[in-house]
Amino acid sequence: MNRRNFLRTAGLGAALAAVSPISSISAFGQPTTKNVVPTGRMKLTFEPYTLKLKHAFNLAKNQRTTTPGVQVRIQLDGITGYGEASMPPYLGENVDSVMSFLSKVDLGQFADPFRVADIHEYIDNLAPRNSAAKASVDIALHDVLGKIMGQPWYKIWGLNPDKTPNTSYTISYQQDPHEMAKEIEETKPFRIIKVKMGLNHDKELVNLLRKTSDTQICVDANQGWDTKEKALEMCKWLADNNCAFVEQPLPKEMFAETAWLRERSPLPIIADEAFQRITDVRKLSEAYDGVNIKLMKSTGLYEAHQMAQLARNLGMKVMVGCMTETSAAVTAAAQLSPLCDWADLDGNLLIANDIFDGIKIVDGKVTIPADRPGIGVIPKA
Ligand code: MG
Repeated sequence: MNRRNFLRTAGLGAALAAVSPISSISAFGQPTTKNVVPTGRMKLTFEPYTLKLKHAFNLAKNQRTTTPGVQVRIQLDGITGYGEASMPPYLGENVDSVMSFLSKVDLGQFADPFRVADIHEYIDNLAPRNSAAKASVDIALHDVLGKIMGQPWYKIWGLNPDKTPNTSYTISYQQDPHEMAKEIEETKPFRIIKVKMGLNHDKELVNLLRKTSDTQICVDANQGWDTKEKALEMCKWLADNNCAFVEQPLPKEMFAETAWLRERSPLPIIADEAFQRITDVRKLSEAYDGVNIKLMKSTGLYEAHQMAQLARNLGMKVMVGCMTETSAAVTAAAQLSPLCDWADLDGNLLIANDIFDGIKIVDGKVTIPADRPGIGVIPKA
């Protein structure tokens, strides 16, 4: 299906979803769930969609200008749920692997789409890894279910949308001073700036930023510091430069060194590359102060919600992040953000070809569309 038809069908689904009843009222004045269980079977469709980055990404180990993606939808009784897989190269997934995984998925076997635990288990057991492919199905399923219930997920989970955190906006070092100045200028509407480190210009980047901005920063070293002593020296220096926390300072394999660093660092240490699935959380609590939850790693919202609760119960900090994604996956993640201390939900702002309207950043704060059921997005016209 071409993009125009995809979006046209998609728009119809959203319109139908908007009028879907949450339930009916019985003769005794009690809500019934009569209309909640759909009569049809879920149908999954998917197509590749390349995300174009506004600025080249300069990471510790590579540079890139696009991110491969796959757009997914689940249709059920005239309702369309949206999901997506985004595959930055380091995750080990690509368009072929996602398309191949999705072609094995048979959602038609589930008569009741609310059997989320069963569906999650089925998808997770289809093949190991493939977390972005699994997330794409999970996100679209949550969108369908929220639309059937007529409610956004933050409400279904009982979360307060006023408690969403500020989101950070990411900058990285640019050789070209003009490009660097442009990136710094773009951080102005934000209350926290995420600085990518682990290259050769870490302190220079902060010093450049501090010439025009005293906004709080957080740092993502992307495993780029190679010794615990260097990481500690940087954490101390950053603590004097209005920094909130440091994400993945050391390579994920350096667990004992990270525990050593955490004992001495004045700043919280957050796991990102070291953290994939919910089974990692308890062990990570021995070396990290918090975890960065991303839907493309967690296999979607079902596990991400459990991760956030588990981490909080273990006394850890919780951060919700994203890859470069359209507003579909970013808004889905935003539904969870009232449970989180920090958000890094700028993935949709970093791409030039977003096809959805959803999350808004108002005065630096994550703002979830209040009256939109499901994950909270509608396709752009
Ligand atoms: Mg990170």
